[in-house]
Order: sequence, then structure tokens, then C-alpha cells
Amino acid sequence: MDPHSDAQDVPRCDHCETAIVHSYCDFCHVNLCTPCIGKHISDGYDKHKIVLFQERGSTLIYPNCKTHPHKICESQCMDCDNSFVCSSCMASEQHGRHKFQEITEIYNTNKDVIRNDKNEFENKISPAYEEIVVDLENQLANFDGIYEKYTTNISKQGEKWHKEIDIIITEMKTKLCDMKVSRRKILQEHLDEIKQKQSLISQTLFDLGELEKSTEVSPIVEYSSKISKFSYIPPKFQLTVSPPMFIPNPIDHKKLYLLF
Ligand SMILES: [Zn+2]
Ligand SMILES: [Zn+2]
Ligand SMILES: [Zn+2]
Ligand SMILES: [Zn+2]
Repeated sequence: MDPHSDAQDVPRCDHCETAIVHSYCDFCHVNLCTPCIGKHISDGYDKHKIVLFQERGSTLIYPNCKTHPHKICESQCMDCDNSFVCSSCMASEQHGRHKFQEITEIYNTNKDVIRNDKNEFENKISPAYEEIVVDLENQLANFDGIYEKYTTNISKQGEKWHKEIDIIITEMKTKLCDMKVSRRKILQEHLDEIKQKQSLISQTLFDLGELEKSTEVSPIVEYSSKISKFSYIPPKFQLTVSPPMFIPNPIDHKKLYLLF
């Protein structure tokens, strides 16, 4: 990429605001061009850390000593609660024979811990949580749909049951109707038969009356008794099957619920 074509994006010196940046003060965090370095450190403040712009942010900023404010602490006193100490402190009587540890060691160890932690957060913990969130959000998004489907299926099953019960009722009524027709027919036929015999009896009775009054010899002589033909009186007729009776089964809610 041609750097001139994108001149707007090239970092400039924070002092003169025109020249292209070359260096960086790691203590003040300012961009500097080479000519402006002198001006920047001219206040004599010896904390300025001028580094190449590319290497900015690499200088360790040590804490100032609380006892000797113009000195920086590069060590910790292991016998004084790991307090930060400067070279003057280390030479002082207060820390005589105390053990010291360079801060950079702990700094580097902890930097590793931080890097590892960050790595673990980025690659393991955060993605795991992200996955859980996505999963829960998906579940929530499908929530209404799943329950709606369930409700619809219950309604459908209900309709099927209602239809089935209607079919059973119709079947039973049809059977009952057929039964009524056939049994009525049997009764009617028997009545017809009895009535036929009854009219025959009436006719015979009339004939007997005539004969009783008559003095004509021949029909009386030729008469043979009709009693044996009619003496058998049929018993009261009853259908061999008893009239139908509907005994409803108790409705077992629990069983029906399970079957549903
Ligand atoms: Zn400048
Ligand atoms: Zn500076
Ligand atoms: Zn000190
Ligand atoms: Zn000490």
C-alpha cells in the first residue's frame, strides 16, 4: 500500500502536529517526531522514556518509592510484606539483611498468568457461555411453537375421540333399531296368527249355534267334534329374549387420561 495515498491515517507528532511520528514517550504516552524529542525532554524530568514508535508500550513503568519519591522501586522486600523498595531503601538500615526480589520476575510470571487467563477466557470460558446463551435463546425462540404444537395435537386427539364416540353411539342406536324391528315383527306375526285362529273359532261357534237350532238330520249326524282341534290354548306369548337394557359403565377419568 502506498503510504502517501493514505496520508490522513499516518500518525503525526503530538508536539508539532505536522511531522510523521518517529518516536514515542512511553512515560507520557505521546507521539514524537525526531526534532521534537529534544523539546519534549527539555523539562528535565528524567522519567521520559523515548522509544521507537514501533516499540511503544514495551517500557515497564515502575512505581515511585514512598520513602524516596524521586526514585523508582524495582524490587520487593520479602521480609516487609512484599513492599516495593528502591535502591536507597535496600541500602537502608530498615531493610538490613532482608531478602529482596526483583519486581520483573513477578511481573513476568504474572504476565504469563494474565496471558493464560485471557487465553482461557477467550478460547474456553467465553465461547462456552456464548454457546449456552445461543442455546437458551434458541430454546426460547422455539418455546411458543413447541407448546402451540402440543396444544394443537391435544385438540386433534380430542376431535378424534369425539368422532369415535359419535360413531359408537350411532352404531349402538342402529343395532337397537334393528333389534326393535325384528322383535316387533315376531310379536306382530304371532298376533296375526292368534287373530286368524280367533276368527276361525268365531266361525265355528256361529256354525255350532246354527246346528244347535237346526232339526236337519244329515249335518248333525255327520258332525264330528271340533273341540280337539281347538282345545289346545296357547300360553301367553313372550319373546325368548328379554327387552334390551342399557347399563352404563362408570367413567374412569384416570384410565381415560392415560389412554389419551
Ligand atoms: Zn514534532
Ligand atoms: Zn515524556
Ligand atoms: Zn526508597
Ligand atoms: Zn525490608
